[in-house]
Amino acid sequence: MRGPLSPHDSIPSITVSPRGAERLKSGHLWVYRSDIAKAGDIPPGSLVGVRDRRGRTLGSALYSSASQIAIRLLTSRAIAEDELVVLVRQRIDDAVGFRQHNVRDSDSYRVIFSEADLLPGLIVDKYNDVLAMQVLTQAFDREPTRQAVAQKMHEHYPGASLLDRIDPHIRELEQLPQRESQLVLGGKASTLFTLNGVRFHFDGLGGQKTGAFLDQRENYAAAARYAHGEALDCFTYHGGFALHLARVCSGVTAVDSSRPALEVAEQNEQLNRDAHTCDDIDWIEANVFDLLKDYSSAGRQYDTIVLDPPAFAKTKRTVETALRGYKELNLRALKMLRPGGILVTCSCSFHVEQAAFSAMLTDAAADAGRRLRVLESRGAAVDHPVLAGVPETGYLKCILSQMIA
Ligand code: SAH
Repeated sequence: MRGPLSPHDSIPSITVSPRGAERLKSGHLWVYRSDIAKAGDIPPGSLVGVRDRRGRTLGSALYSSASQIAIRLLTSRAIAEDELVVLVRQRIDDAVGFRQHNVRDSDSYRVIFSEADLLPGLIVDKYNDVLAMQVLTQAFDREPTRQAVAQKMHEHYPGASLLDRIDPHIRELEQLPQRESQLVLGGKASTLFTLNGVRFHFDGLGGQKTGAFLDQRENYAAAARYAHGEALDCFTYHGGFALHLARVCSGVTAVDSSRPALEVAEQNEQLNRDAHTCDDIDWIEANVFDLLKDYSSAGRQYDTIVLDPPAFAKTKRTVETALRGYKELNLRALKMLRPGGILVTCSCSFHVEQAAFSAMLTDAAADAGRRLRVLESRGAAVDHPVLAGVPETGYLKCILSQMIA
């Protein structure tokens, strides 16, 4: 005899292996395909009930038929299909409320950060009056969830445009049909936005797409608290650090290998010129590794150096090589720092953990024969929170230190 229908009876069910169950119990939201013990023929992007081998409910999750991450847990409750959109709407309200309460001095921030907001597979960034959404999974690509996101964004940010930003690579991995980036709400895809009082251009659809590393927002402000004298911003992109340093330093040089990025950076400089304490920023198109080598052999010295390279370790296997790259970079920078100088060093490689990154810096200082005082050891801004149990949400490291004589 069967009892009354439980919510799970109306949705497909997945049985996870003991290792998968353990992972969920430890606080992670993902179960890999190799840890799925039993699954029927489940449509892509479905809401699924998750059970362990003994049939006990572990919660409800979003299923992908393509990704190695087969399910992403949504809730530890068993919910029915018609509760899904209600839950998504509630979670969006919570995510917006958290930012409105915690982000200051900026009109731009990450409104929804996927797992960290218990909305695994969805990212929304706010650039002043333009919102940019990224759908990362089959489940969030479904029409009812897309509509819920658009309605909620309209409700919380009336008058703002909403842009669907497509990453063709992600759609391919998720086996989703290709589509173009496009406006979903409103008519504006480009705007000016402000972080800590510094103004930037955003263009979400133009030939030369722009954006920002919003996760560095609070680190820009922290860098500006200690920066002084002559500054060098390595891997500047659109000038995030450089433009903050230009408000407190006597000279700023900024380097990137991308000409298009530097063109936007120069346009950003024009928006902020009035507040600068230095002359024009010197934007240099070069490979940072080569430039540091040349500058250090020429005996150049700086009072403030920022290192914010792209992720060196894309996989676990490349961590050692990445750490050697970070060390070379930091060693060169430290040798060019004047006594009392400030080093701001970052890593956005998830696989390079905080402890390893700190140890790398200590090593580099020892090799350079310099003593460092660590001023702040930071992560991403508060609008990119870290979900305990999901280490992937905590990828950014930023150490601010001072060279002492
Ligand atoms: N600091 C920036 C973000 C940097 S993103 C900010 O706060 O907005 C990394 C940047 O490094 C990209 O702009 C990329 O063009 C640049 N880059 C990658 N490899 C490089 C290299 N070897 N030399 C110089 N720039 C490089």
